[in-house]
Amino acid sequence: MFDFEKGRLRFIRGGKYPQSNSVLIDDNIRTIIDPACNEEKLLSIHRERPVEVVINSHGHEDHILYNWLFPDAQLWVHELDAGVFRDLDAFIHQFFPREEMDEKTKATWHQLLTEVLRYRPKEPDRLLEDEEILDFGHTRVQVLHTPGHTAGHLSFHFLDERLIFLADLDLVKFGPYYGDNASSIDSTITSLQRLAKIDADVYLVSHGKKGILDGDPAHIQRYLDVIYQREEKLLAFMASGPKTLQEITARGIIYGGHKLADGAWDLSISERSMMRKHLERLQRTGRVTTENGTYILSGQ
Ligand SMILES: [Zn+2]
Ligand SMILES: [Zn+2]
Repeated sequence: MFDFEKGRLRFIRGGKYPQSNSVLIDDNIRTIIDPACNEEKLLSIHRERPVEVVINSHGHEDHILYNWLFPDAQLWVHELDAGVFRDLDAFIHQFFPREEMDEKTKATWHQLLTEVLRYRPKEPDRLLEDEEILDFGHTRVQVLHTPGHTAGHLSFHFLDERLIFLADLDLVKFGPYYGDNASSIDSTITSLQRLAKIDADVYLVSHGKKGILDGDPAHIQRYLDVIYQREEKLLAFMASGPKTLQEITARGIIYGGHKLADGAWDLSISERSMMRKHLERLQRTGRVTTENGTYILSGQ
């Protein structure tokens, strides 16, 4: 049943998207972080002894997938992602600027939310704050607000187990995702730097084949470096002359130029959105300027 155990912590791997890995705190207050691994396994855990608290690391569909199995449990999330739980429209519009959301995409999301996630608006019972320590009986967990992927993204430091659950700062080869409206490259960098400084034996993450890594900050550094590599590729492409966002998106620096729609996702939307964040960052530091809808490398 469990893929990893330490103290009262149990780690359960999920399958591929829209599932993700879950953390069970099998303590006095039985708690699941991100109930998204597997319906049968979660049901059997719940039957054995009811789950009292559901914590979501953030408000993405692949982390709240099976929240509906625990209608009587308390819901704890960070304030900055709470709106997504309160309102279906806020959920759908966390991904794209409203003007870029066509009706078909909206309908696809609506269907996923109502039929698969059985979405019901819910007021979170508790808003988790950075650095607060949650006591589940024998397990003490420090909440780490690690924004960037989403504004309210949380990681969890299991103090006595010397372990961090990094959620969607998932340390996979692909690198970090920061394509939502509220995503931020700078915050992603700051959050990763902060996590790398924490002394830990084990990192657990939400995705990837294993989801379990030794607590070596080099894993975090490699993941962080992907951001700079993307930026270098973008600068190299722009060196050949001014580019529109469309041309930069078509280059496929992040996704390799595929415009494939995987489930609800058209990856070119993510590519464009993440490239836009890179361009904004380069503009802030004065390395790129914009003119007549094109982006120009400074000094060109
Ligand atoms: Zn996510
Ligand atoms: Zn995820």
